[in-house]
Amino acid sequence: KKLVYSFEMGDKSWRDLLGGKGANLAEMTKIGLPVPQGFTVSTEACKEYYEKNQWLSENVKSQIAVHMMKLEESMGKKFGGDENPLLVSVRSGAAVSMPGMMDTVLNLGLNDTSVEALARESQNEKFAWDSYRRFIQMFSDVVMDIPKYKFDIVLERLMEEKGCDSVEGLEAEDFKKAVEEFKGIYVKETGNDFLTDPFDQLLATVEAVFKSWNNPRAIVYRDINGIDGSIGTAVNIQSMVFGNLGQTSGTGVAFTRNPATGEKKIFGEYLLDAQGEDVVAGIRTPKEIEGMADEMPEVYKEFMDVCALLEKHYNDMQDIEFTIEKGKLYLLQTRNGKRTAQAAIKVAVDMVEEGLISKDEAILRVDPSSINQLLHKNFDPKELKKERPLTEGLPASPGAASGRVAFTANDIKQGKGEILVRLETSPEDIEGMNLAEGILTIHGGMTSHAAVVARGMGKCCISGCSSIELDEAAKRMVIGDVVIQEGDCISLDGGTGKVYKGEIPKREGMIDSTFEKFMEWTGEYKSLGIRTNADTVKDCETAIRFGAEGIGLCRTEHMFFDENKIWPVREMIVSKTSYEREQALAKLLPLQKEDFVGIFKTMGARPVTVRLLDPPLHEFLPHEDDDIEKLSKDMNIEFRDLKNRIEGLKEFNPMLGHRGCRLAVTYPEIYEMQAKAIMLAAIENKRNGVDVSPEIMIPLVGEVNELTYVKKRVQGAIEEVFRTEDFKLEYKLGTMIEVPRACVTSDEIAKEAEFFSFGTNDLTQITFGYSRDDSPKFIGEYKSKEILAHDPFESIDERGVGRLMKMSVDLAKAEKGNIKLGICGEHGGDPKSIEFCHGLGLDYVSCSPYRVPIARVAAAQAEI
Ligand code: ADP
Ligand code: MG
Ligand code: MG
Repeated sequence: KKLVYSFEMGDKSWRDLLGGKGANLAEMTKIGLPVPQGFTVSTEACKEYYEKNQWLSENVKSQIAVHMMKLEESMGKKFGGDENPLLVSVRSGAAVSMPGMMDTVLNLGLNDTSVEALARESQNEKFAWDSYRRFIQMFSDVVMDIPKYKFDIVLERLMEEKGCDSVEGLEAEDFKKAVEEFKGIYVKETGNDFLTDPFDQLLATVEAVFKSWNNPRAIVYRDINGIDGSIGTAVNIQSMVFGNLGQTSGTGVAFTRNPATGEKKIFGEYLLDAQGEDVVAGIRTPKEIEGMADEMPEVYKEFMDVCALLEKHYNDMQDIEFTIEKGKLYLLQTRNGKRTAQAAIKVAVDMVEEGLISKDEAILRVDPSSINQLLHKNFDPKELKKERPLTEGLPASPGAASGRVAFTANDIKQGKGEILVRLETSPEDIEGMNLAEGILTIHGGMTSHAAVVARGMGKCCISGCSSIELDEAAKRMVIGDVVIQEGDCISLDGGTGKVYKGEIPKREGMIDSTFEKFMEWTGEYKSLGIRTNADTVKDCETAIRFGAEGIGLCRTEHMFFDENKIWPVREMIVSKTSYEREQALAKLLPLQKEDFVGIFKTMGARPVTVRLLDPPLHEFLPHEDDDIEKLSKDMNIEFRDLKNRIEGLKEFNPMLGHRGCRLAVTYPEIYEMQAKAIMLAAIENKRNGVDVSPEIMIPLVGEVNELTYVKKRVQGAIEEVFRTEDFKLEYKLGTMIEVPRACVTSDEIAKEAEFFSFGTNDLTQITFGYSRDDSPKFIGEYKSKEILAHDPFESIDERGVGRLMKMSVDLAKAEKGNIKLGICGEHGGDPKSIEFCHGLGLDYVSCSPYRVPIARVAAAQAEI
């Protein structure tokens, strides 16, 4: 079986087999770009390696040997030879790009003899020994798992002895010493001598790359990004080109457009006399790419042309790695660049206007969930003006973050909103970075690990903030004369790179004209309606601004909690007689009406679905004796008596208890009052010339007779309002479908309802029998043991809950062809669930205001 392919064989479509890096190296070779020669050990070989219990088969070894021989031949060099030595890089590369998550070893093939040959032929001893010490260091880290810092300590000591403050200051002699000491460390840590045979070095590294597929940070990364763990990585073996051959050599990374803002301008960084790792690892802060125009004008021009060519060829923004060896440019990698949501939208819109891609394509290119980032709050410019920044770094990833400082990824606690401050981040920090509110690094440029990962996560990040002195051991940092200890609060402005002391107030995210244009385009495609869940005027305004077409769920219980209303609500609940209850409700009616007046006015002709009271009554009751005391006085009842009544309202399992329409069966006056309030508010607006479309929704129906009974009472109340007001208007009456029995009997229920709205939170909860509030305790375990692929409260469980929904839709439509169908659970804002709802043929989804744009994009994508 063929497991190894030379770069000449494949192309970009071979991604699954060759991994992204390998497929693109093949593609660049094919279109004639200067790519150092090499070959790819396929992902199939990785699968085989795991199938054979982590063992490299003879077949794959011999195929590697054959390709190595061919490579020697065409390069006219000998792998690790004592003359004209061929050196290679061994590079991981999975089908889905996971930047920096797996391992790479450079300068492989060096040993005590080939290093001499390299020095002789390059006439550059320093370069040869620098390369050798780098190789030992990387090999030890990647293959033998020896911590990097053990080697760094040696380098630091040598630098001190020499009196220089960077590694470039060291000479050949120093690197020779480093190599000796590195070998010593290697022997001490592994009990063996450093491998001298190049082929042994190679096989050990290939194996290590296969293993790195399952290193903890790669697993975490796949988990965060939902990447399938079974697909494995390929390994690329490529002849080395050297960026560390002095001032006419160098290495760099560039994006064909700005990955933070999307601006159409090449954006990159480079270092002279350096090898690739130096730029990304953030050890030295690199220079901006424009500097190359002066330092090596010809290479610069050639590189600009390559950028234009690659962007056009791939029709997307590219992230390109390159190396210059003695004035000659080589390309080492290209891929579609990771970008923030802002950049994704800008690039997509620009590319449509440049005629590069279609609108459909542009819409498909924006990950709906990433849009969240855009709507995030920013620092209030007025507040920001008052503050003086402590210092400034590079604006690596936009956003605003305030939080307590933590100096290690392990100190970040779940959701506590810390700012992670590091010299530079490394892939081991990935989990902490994911949990952090923002990231600040002292070293590293705009393409450093921290910057790339933060942009991928849509997290605010400032990198290369070199004026900060970090004392990791003492857990503090010093900026000028300001000392910041662990736990002190700072603020980061990722858009400007400025760092502030303390917390700065924020305001709502702004949407610009590009965003608006993009959102408009989604409207040309989507057929699914997008409504919002809102119960305040402010939420309604936000949602409309984001393009909501109505309210799918206006909860009424929140309204009851406000200062004015809670007391009459409590009176109503503890009332013993209908008379007492009606008196309390009479106090509530005008207050409740006012809630709806504002909402109807804001929403205008857009439909507004109001759900009548749902939660178990005791949630509204006072629990402290003081409050009970007050209530007893207000109502003129004995304290003890009242306390007993409250006691009596407690339920064993309130979630399945006396709530929803069950309340209205026992106390119909509550829904009657709410219905009146809704209609009075609607009539008031109508009289003022505002169009309204109220929809009244009865929750938690499981048996059609519940609905029939409650509906009659509600309609009676509405008729009464129409009579007394002498005014009639159109309204709809429907129900939530959130109990499995309602799904199964939807034909019966449809007879009594003008619309259905799937309450998928409760439906999921009751169908699985998982309490929504308790399930986080075990869902994580279920996911890691692969019992569930995802949390059913995040994305609809299509095989179970989804099937019930389908049954319900089919039964309802057969009974009443024109019945309106929607969904109003949390799932209404989840792109995957939206696609499912589109497939079910629902009329609309409803989600929280901030998810409306996400839902619009997801709905448009579902249509394309
Ligand atoms: P990652 O996936 O972490 O980016 P890469 O395999 O791309 O790892 O390698 C990291 C860097 O090492 C590259 O950006 C490049 O600068 C350098 N590198 C890799 N292969 C070679 C090579 N054959 N010659 C010179 N430099 C190389
Ligand atoms: Mg790379
Ligand atoms: Mg519910």
